[in-house]
Amino acid sequence: MSFEKELKEILEDIYVLLENELKSRSSITVSPEFIKRWKSFNPQDFANRIKQVSIDVSEEEIKKTVDFPESEIKKGKNSISETISEIQKQLDIIRQEVAQCTKCPISEDRTNTVFGTGNPEADLVFVGEAPGAEEDRQGLPFVGRAGQLLTDIIVKGMKMRREDVYICNVLKCRPPNNRDPNPMEVMNCEPYLLRQLELIKPKVICALGRISAQTLLKTDAPLNELRGKWHNYHGIPLRVTYHPAYLLRNPADKKKAWIDIQEVMKLLNGEITVTFEDDNRTLL
Ligand code: SF4
Repeated sequence: MSFEKELKEILEDIYVLLENELKSRSSITVSPEFIKRWKSFNPQDFANRIKQVSIDVSEEEIKKTVDFPESEIKKGKNSISETISEIQKQLDIIRQEVAQCTKCPISEDRTNTVFGTGNPEADLVFVGEAPGAEEDRQGLPFVGRAGQLLTDIIVKGMKMRREDVYICNVLKCRPPNNRDPNPMEVMNCEPYLLRQLELIKPKVICALGRISAQTLLKTDAPLNELRGKWHNYHGIPLRVTYHPAYLLRNPADKKKAWIDIQEVMKLLNGEITVTFEDDNRTLL
């Protein structure tokens, strides 16, 4: 996003916020998009960029301007952090539903449901197919060796922290003997994923492995046909790459996975944009 556009959007948000304050409301509700922009807004960076375009504004004044709305927000019932907590709270409600879910027979054999973990306002969500034995034991997605490789991709490759992204699976229960999820299980469980994504509102989804990609995209196409292009998952750009467990068995394909991840990073960094003709932004 250009500097001018980013600044304009931030100022518009602040304007709306102040307008609400002026109406003496006891609470303010801000959108998740606002929270994302607000959190990524760096006053120092802003000051530097202002200096670059040679506008005569002191850093003191900029800091005052930037600090002002935050202190105003704190006066209301719903501060930004409270709104983030609200997203987490809504996710926790779904998590509790999932923990009690018995829609599929596989629920009888699970040790734990595996709901998902990470930043409730992540720009990037990784979606795998289903928990394995270790995930079932710990109740966490992508633990063990495959999980470590995913962490390496995020931390060493993408230069992000694992807690900056959100990680989950299509299925929240472990299929016995790590078999593929069956269509009935996917039909039962995908609504939970859709509700998670509706709350998180990521900029991009990365499907990990053939089963995840085929399940999300409702296709039988092989993985290599699904890789290398952008897909529309309910209006969210989706990129397909190899499952980390596959990469452990086939390290030669790590180079190809890195190409996929670089495309994801380009979208996250605003180097490319993805639009769809059939732009359906309704997740639910
Ligand atoms: S797989 Fe999903 S829908 Fe099926 S029992 Fe587990 S949580 Fe429920």
